[in-house]
Amino acid sequence: MRHAVIGTAGHVDHGKTTLIRALTGVNTDRLRQEQERGLTIELGFAPLTLPSGRTAGVVDVPGHERFIKNMLAGATGVDVALLVVAADEGVMPQTDEHLDILNLLGVRHGVVAVTKADLVEAEWLELVAEDVRDRLADTLLAGVAIVPVSAVTGQGLDELLRELDLALDRAASASAAERWSCTRLPIDRVFAISGHGTVITGTLIGGSIKPGDRLELLPAGKSVRVRQVQVHDKTVEAAERGQRVALNLAGLERDEIERGMVLAAPAMLEPTRLFDAELTLLRSATPVEHGDCMHLHMGTAEATCRVRVIGGDAAIPGEITFVQLELAECEGVAARGDRFIIRTYSPMATAGGGRILAVARGRMRRFRPEIVREFETLSGGDDAELATLFVHRALREHARPATAADVARAMFREEASVRALLERGVAAGAIVELGGLGSGGAGAGGAGDGDQRGYLTQGDWADVEERMHDVLADFHAREPLRAGMAREELRTRALPGWDSKWFTLAMSRAAADGTVHEQRALAALPSHRVTLSPEQQEWARRIEDAFASSLMSPPERPDVMAGGAPQAVLDYLIDTGVV
Ligand code: GDP
Ligand code: MG
Repeated sequence: MRHAVIGTAGHVDHGKTTLIRALTGVNTDRLRQEQERGLTIELGFAPLTLPSGRTAGVVDVPGHERFIKNMLAGATGVDVALLVVAADEGVMPQTDEHLDILNLLGVRHGVVAVTKADLVEAEWLELVAEDVRDRLADTLLAGVAIVPVSAVTGQGLDELLRELDLALDRAASASAAERWSCTRLPIDRVFAISGHGTVITGTLIGGSIKPGDRLELLPAGKSVRVRQVQVHDKTVEAAERGQRVALNLAGLERDEIERGMVLAAPAMLEPTRLFDAELTLLRSATPVEHGDCMHLHMGTAEATCRVRVIGGDAAIPGEITFVQLELAECEGVAARGDRFIIRTYSPMATAGGGRILAVARGRMRRFRPEIVREFETLSGGDDAELATLFVHRALREHARPATAADVARAMFREEASVRALLERGVAAGAIVELGGLGSGGAGAGGAGDGDQRGYLTQGDWADVEERMHDVLADFHAREPLRAGMAREELRTRALPGWDSKWFTLAMSRAAADGTVHEQRALAALPSHRVTLSPEQQEWARRIEDAFASSLMSPPERPDVMAGGAPQAVLDYLIDTGVV
């Protein structure tokens, strides 16, 4: 991580905006209303150069409880928290609430600035620091540096910068392991600039963006082109993960885009109304019952959702609960691993938050043991178990085998690494591959990359083979003289919903396994043998004779039948190529 975002947090009037101005020279209260009232309402942004030479983007958030939703939009993408506590007031309600939010969002690096140190005695300062230390003890920010500062005298500012540098170092080494990231920018501000069209800003939380790139605007699903990229008011060749970015977009009207939408690499994120998630309620919260309506904050978006509790009747404070979040009015955009916050309706207060486990396509039965097991795998499964589960879910959701791209989207991982995982699953016998080597599907369209590989779990493949077997066995019982069933009929009976491309691959695989016998356009069980009774053999001989004796003008079907010949015998002769 070469770039990082520092986010302020803390109660209103504790000196966040003043501190950022002292550190960066930028007044982040840009709005006239903000300057007149001396109150931060919207998010503010400033670049900060640290003693090490590293630069970071600073997001200044409002502390007032009425603007918590703006704070939440700003807290997305924060790598290092700068928690501000005024020495004269100490820990206050939004100090607590912001800290809870940072904790639920998984922010684990930070520094505390005890501001207005010029207003209090040294002993008092020590007491406030002690109090803050206690409050942090059971959070992810336990043990971070606590620095007394004054924006008035300049006391402590150098030490604060040094501590921020160290916290950024720790955040950088923690994220060094993640090599791949999908280009993603949750939008926090939108403007129309006359002569320049639509401009948006946000923190680039993954990938990179350069002029000319095509991105997908979600949940709208619209393709947009990037005209110009700026980082802190300077035009750049490319913006990278962790930077505060402004983009000038082509092909988009101002009113088509708003805070909460996401710009992303095409085809990686699917808007949906349902998410599978794990939810942790704050100890101070009341239980959330199945069906409760809550405010959901994900990325920079805010929505109303219902909480469906899986495997129980309520989410209990302090416990991790499996839930489905069902958006009430609109589709949302999130990926596996994203953090979210939920707040109660009235009074509005942060109740808890958690982690998105999967994009869901339907409501889950709440008390089925297999569904609870599925959530357990989503929550704690290893890579192999997750890949197998997402292969299974693709079949359930799309009625076709999974592609590597499906599983990569679901796991929110790079496709190449997911492909390797799937191959390992195949080698281990957990996953069955259709297509692939040798049968590269003769130009059968597909995802456009020419790769016709699909995956099923071992159990689902056994089920597919059983369905084909049952349909064929039934057909043979009804039509014992037919060599086989028309392939197309087998598809619609055994695997309705599968298109012919996937069905063809399934047939090849079943033929290779020896469970289905393919002969021209017919499919049969390998065990199927046509045997004629003596009477049928007699009819066969007569029909053959009739054809043989009139080679120049072969009889029509009605002529043959008129003699009393069973239709099945005639069909048998046609199937076997005698007639
Ligand atoms: P915010 O709501 O946390 O952004 O707080 P502001 O930065 O708007 O500051 C609130 C008030 O505290 C303003 O009147 C500031 O002038 C004052 N203030 C901020 N920092 C200091 C400080 O270090 N010392 C003193 N004496 N006053 C401060
Ligand atoms: Mg402020």
